[in-house]
Amino acid sequence: MSQLIPAAAGAGLRLKRGEHLRIIDPQGGQSGDLMAFSADGRQRLSNGRTFDYGGKIYLSTGDVLWSDHSERMLTIVADDVGRHDFLYAPCSLEMYQIQYGVTDYHANCHDNLCAELRKLNIVPEPLPTAFNFFMNVDVAKDGRLVFAPPRSRAGDSFIVRAEMDLAVAVSCCPASTCNGGAPPRPLAFEIVRE
Ligand SMILES: [Zn+2]
Repeated sequence: MSQLIPAAAGAGLRLKRGEHLRIIDPQGGQSGDLMAFSADGRQRLSNGRTFDYGGKIYLSTGDVLWSDHSERMLTIVADDVGRHDFLYAPCSLEMYQIQYGVTDYHANCHDNLCAELRKLNIVPEPLPTAFNFFMNVDVAKDGRLVFAPPRSRAGDSFIVRAEMDLAVAVSCCPASTCNGGAPPRPLAFEIVRE
């Protein structure tokens, strides 16, 4: 049974080593943020270490997401979409203020992820870069970062396997720039215990 993550909201869960997490885009074209800490909170997801050991910025089936202590956290074992971002920091209230001139509170992945991790008794801040699944960013020859709509179609998903006991948070990204200009739509997930 999959659980829905409402548009612009977050969800938290714990994974035991060997368990699988499937993340689904029910309607298509929606990106999100995946954050992982070791179950004891000491190790954090690290895009830099992942680039060190993987040697590439685009990750898909067979690739490993590493911790800041150079241990394997998650392996991507299936991927319908094949394009994700691991460069951008989670969107934050300050980002909406600086880039979009927002003056009131705006839902954001940083706060969603931190809130869900705190519910799991993890101290989240400073929050590292999340794995921005389905977010489609090209690097131009001159180094500019170019957004394109997510390639995920309705029902597409990817699956990660936990390589250690983990506390995990997922955020349904409310930034229209990351979602082909559309307002946020829900995501869903299911834990596969074998
Ligand atoms: Zn976001």
